[in-house]
Amino acid sequence: MPDYQYTSDYFVHKHTLFPYIASFLPEDRAREISALMKDGQVSLIYNKSGLISSCSINQNRQFRYCPECMKEDIQNFGEMYWHRLHQITEVLICPKHKVPLQNSRVLMRGAYRQSFIAADEENCISNEAIGFSPDAIEKLFMIAEDVQQVLTREFTYQNIDKHNLSHTIAIISSPTGILNAEIFFG
Ligand SMILES: [Zn+2]
Repeated sequence: MPDYQYTSDYFVHKHTLFPYIASFLPEDRAREISALMKDGQVSLIYNKSGLISSCSINQNRQFRYCPECMKEDIQNFGEMYWHRLHQITEVLICPKHKVPLQNSRVLMRGAYRQSFIAADEENCISNEAIGFSPDAIEKLFMIAEDVQQVLTREFTYQNIDKHNLSHTIAIISSPTGILNAEIFFG
């Protein structure tokens, strides 16, 4: 077993979208949301962070997956899992494999919203053909890399404008608070 301290902070920071969402929030609001997450008060989190009205994460209808990650996960771990990066609306391709993400059959909303449905080979089948031009793939790759950087850096309650993103992409927060990021190519 790896030598981790399995604290509530560890799970919030390493296994949820909190670091990404909180990057667009003032520190006091981010801390409040972190406390609500640890307390299991999910419905309050949506109200506090403005996620219902303005969060781009909430625009996804289905959980998404990368077909190549899916094969690797099965090979390495014997099963697949939902990658948190793939659930962020701005991320349209897998930065590791540079292939379009696919919609699974598991809805993010409605009756499923607060139940846990694991990713598997039956619900991760897509009949949609999602494709992008080589030029679009390159740009979407840069966005995916920047979002990944925001999500996985050591979280310090630092606002998004303090990030040193690798690419010339500016993700700005909306006047209402957070996310709904607009992404510009430099
Ligand atoms: Zn992948």
